[in-house]
Amino acid sequence: MRGRDMEDILSKKVLRLEESPTFALDSRANDIDAELKKQGDFVVRFGIGQPDFNTPDNIKEAAKQAIDDNKTRYTPATGVKELKQAIVNKFKRDNGLEYGTENILAGIGAKQVLDTIIRAFVNPGDGVLVLKPYWVSYTQQVLLSDGIPLEVDFKDNLKPDTGHLKKVISDFKNPIKLIIVNSPNNPAGTVYAEEEMGEIAKICLENGIHIIADEVYEKFIYDSARHYSIAGFSSDLKDITITVNAVSKTYAMTGWRVGYCAAHKDIIVHMSKIQGQSPSNPCSIAQWASVEALEGSQKSVGIMRKEYEMRRDYAYERLCRIDGMKCVLPRGAFYLFPDVSGFYRGGIRNSNDFSERLLEQAKVAVVPGSAFGDDRYIRISYAAAIDKIEEGMDRIEKFCKAI
Ligand code: PMP
Ligand code: GLU
Repeated sequence: MRGRDMEDILSKKVLRLEESPTFALDSRANDIDAELKKQGDFVVRFGIGQPDFNTPDNIKEAAKQAIDDNKTRYTPATGVKELKQAIVNKFKRDNGLEYGTENILAGIGAKQVLDTIIRAFVNPGDGVLVLKPYWVSYTQQVLLSDGIPLEVDFKDNLKPDTGHLKKVISDFKNPIKLIIVNSPNNPAGTVYAEEEMGEIAKICLENGIHIIADEVYEKFIYDSARHYSIAGFSSDLKDITITVNAVSKTYAMTGWRVGYCAAHKDIIVHMSKIQGQSPSNPCSIAQWASVEALEGSQKSVGIMRKEYEMRRDYAYERLCRIDGMKCVLPRGAFYLFPDVSGFYRGGIRNSNDFSERLLEQAKVAVVPGSAFGDDRYIRISYAAAIDKIEEGMDRIEKFCKAI
């Protein structure tokens, strides 16, 4: 625009907003991959976190049927009643949580649902506790609501340091409205034990802080780890917890864009106003596909979980063999989060440099830890076919040896 800077035209909020690093990296990896393909090479894609599996056939059939049945119009902004009922059934079946459809909101992926929760709670200057390492969009969504993200440190096992959590709470002078708890965790793959969840929950109850429990990876848990829903701990906790989930990861449906949450009905009433005024309903066809996902055969989920576990075992073992690489065994999700700071030399100063060089030189895409709140790490998504994981690990090993 001639004669005027964007700074004078656009909002301060949008100017300071960071681009989603996962999406930015994926599109860059795509471009490089397209170029390399012409020379018979390719990028190993350990960057964006999404299942490499196809959406199961029964779900695709339900979507086709929805089109044929002309279920193609606006729906209620927060989802059709059949989907809400399927979500109610899911929470009862999988998490032992009793809700009615008045407690449910369906939105455009967990991402939009999270944004709507934050918008519903946060006044300018309010604090939102974000446990490091955190998924990339939490802090930016808080900033979009003019809130202040309050970052909480983690311990060596990559789980929250509750001593630091208490300190952050007592040091902050404005109201703290929310905490975001994400287990199984993206990016660390950690799964919080019952006592660890309980400790966080107790601190929140004592301090009147509502809890967002982001459970999108709940189905991908390995070894003897178990998933605990905070809302199931007590009725007091149920009242202050908003449990978020989505069909995206569980059913390999990232592109369909259906996520949902369960909460006290008074919270849902106000969130619904945002939903009606801003995005409106999630895609009608995707909603019907999601009904089938939640109510139909769950066989594919077990198959995917098993496959991820096998890949995790392989990838973890390969990483551990690399001299200088430090990695905690992840018990859930589909990420490894190794500490690569031992390789910060020869022009590599941080996780961005490391990831950048790895992409440029070894043609492996990973996400720098800086995007998740800690610059010592990188995130490797093993939601990729095993032959790609083998190739990627060969390349990473060679790259690290040469630093
Ligand atoms: N929470 C976490 C922890 C995630 O990893 C993701 C994946 N993008 C989301 C929320 C958003 O999920 P969705 O694709 O359903 O918007
Ligand atoms: N959850 C994925 C990731 O962390 C998808 C990308 C995104 O939504 O940011 O890579």
